Amino acid sequence: MEVIQSTAGALLALRCPHCHAGKLFSHPALNLRHFTDMPAACPVCGQTYEPEPGFYIGAMYVSYAFVVPLVLAVGLLVYVLGHDPDTWVYVAAVTVAVLALTPLLFRYARAVMLYAFGGVRFDANAARRAG
Ligand SMILES: [Zn+2]
Repeated sequence: MEVIQSTAGALLALRCPHCHAGKLFSHPALNLRHFTDMPAACPVCGQTYEPEPGFYIGAMYVSYAFVVPLVLAVGLLVYVLGHDPDTWVYVAAVTVAVLALTPLLFRYARAVMLYAFGGVRFDANAARRAG
């Protein structure tokens, strides 16, 4: 199995913060029924993915931090490309963009929450020890 050495790389690849090898999510992001499913623990090293009950409530704030720049960027794009169209065009464009990116926003918000506040450190030997 592949162990990603850099923490940023492991976060971007949505891997376990402890071993950088196990996947954080059970299904692909495009699986709209199950894109939110996370195993209770890392399938490689056994690190729990929910340090405490309700841990991922904080991911809503991370998600908000992702969505605000997205909304501003889409709004600016619509303004420039559409020469300041009617309000409904802004609302429709932002809605489509946010809905289309929901699986990624959800997953990266949870990953950032776990990496930043989960109290887990990378152990280069965790995956090897687990077998
Ligand atoms: Zn792991």
